[in-house]
Amino acid sequence: MTPPITPSMTSLEDLAAACAGCDRCGLAAGRNRVVVSRGNPSARLMLIGEGPGQQEDETGRPFVGRAGQLLDRILASVDLDSDRDVYICNMVKCRPPENRRPTPAEMAACRPWLDAQIALVDPPLIVLAGATAVEGVLGIRGGISRLRGQWQPLDGRWCLPVFHPSYLLRNPSRQEGSPKWLTWQDMQDVKRRLQQLEEPTP
Ligand code: SF4
Repeated sequence: MTPPITPSMTSLEDLAAACAGCDRCGLAAGRNRVVVSRGNPSARLMLIGEGPGQQEDETGRPFVGRAGQLLDRILASVDLDSDRDVYICNMVKCRPPENRRPTPAEMAACRPWLDAQIALVDPPLIVLAGATAVEGVLGIRGGISRLRGQWQPLDGRWCLPVFHPSYLLRNPSRQEGSPKWLTWQDMQDVKRRLQQLEEPTP
């Protein structure tokens, strides 16, 4: 088994190297690549999704398939660049078979890696994409339709649940009140909070 994360893990490079050999849960057996992150480790915004899909497993980068491309467009719609403005990762770093939802045990096994990422990146704002990320990070269960758009505190940070881009691919309507429209409202809210963080305190 992979040794526990130690306080000596002081960089994301150390973390990625340790993750590459991780066998804390059964997902290790079926993976091609451990998918740790993409984006800017100095960003003030972190986005956490569910887990890698096929393309992510092949490339070793999160959110690079169709859902990832939609995510990039959603971020761009509020003038956020996915390479410059966001650090992107997932609840679990190895692909669940058949793209099933990761189990609570798998999420718990992978949680120390995520906690280390959050500590090292130290973002004031975190977007949680989909119900799995909300449950995994905050321990809140429930429909994402009910939870989205409501900021939640986490150890001095603020987390915003939003629809997962995969769900938006299945619900492409842009009509007012649709999941896509609501997500755009949520991302505008994220952008506003980021701008407030940049404003000098009087
Ligand atoms: S999903 Fe996480 S805990 Fe499980 S083997 Fe991969 S890196 Fe380790």
